[in-house]
Amino acid sequence: PGVLYLCATPIGNLEDITLRALRVLKEADCIAAEDTRHTRKLLSHYEIHTPLVSYHSHSSQSKADHLIQRLLQGENIALVADAGTPGISDPGAELVCQALQHDIAVVPVPGPVAAIAALTAAGLPTHKFVFEGFLSNQPKTRRKQLQALQGEQRTMVFYESPHRLADTLRDMLAIWGDRPCAVARELTKLHEEFKRGTLARLADYYRQNPPRGEITLIVGGLPPAEAAARQQETWAELSLAEHVA
Ligand code: SAM
Repeated sequence: PGVLYLCATPIGNLEDITLRALRVLKEADCIAAEDTRHTRKLLSHYEIHTPLVSYHSHSSQSKADHLIQRLLQGENIALVADAGTPGISDPGAELVCQALQHDIAVVPVPGPVAAIAALTAAGLPTHKFVFEGFLSNQPKTRRKQLQALQGEQRTMVFYESPHRLADTLRDMLAIWGDRPCAVARELTKLHEEFKRGTLARLADYYRQNPPRGEITLIVGGLPPAEAAARQQETWAELSLAEHVA
């Protein structure tokens, strides 16, 4: 059989693609993309002419079967997401499972992930963290999810849509109490912005200034008692001044 390559692509800045990813995309027999129009822009920028097929969250099982058949016949397929690493909060994971069930080799071609880019620059502890992806868009379910995370001590990473951000921060504040947090918006793009502060201050800020664009939210875990007071003081003082790339 051929190989299923998981090719990371940029999360905004077209320069964030590895030399290896460009070679794999060029040499693959086909590229399976979440949104072929979106991926075509990247490919034309790098003058890559590999045929594209679509594979997204609403793709039928027959679409996945078709890709598996092609792999079994010896074709190499590069899977790409709209942004970042395929399989992280997008449909890639399902295809990976099916490929492994057919003894097809799955090879990662690593690169950008919004969660990691946001976490590393947030200023919160990175030695242990949890990736929570998207919370539910149902307010009741979301609050339950937040209650379940109340005792989490590791730094938490969430993907969030701009129109829900203020409500999510407000719910987090109500359920967890005030905590340090950072909002990373439009990472690697022209208007990249980090806001670092506390849940209370950022909830207030985003209620008054509704955000746009793509957002990754980083929130401190429940601190051990002795560190709590010190951490709260430091983060309460951080300015909300914009840190533009
Ligand atoms: N596979 C992607 C990855 O590796 O990061 C994530 C896909 S998920 C469907 C898309 C979400 O990731 C967005 O709604 C946003 O929360 C986050 N995201 C993607 N690009 C981003 C960026 N440039 N800045 C901040 N967050 C981003």
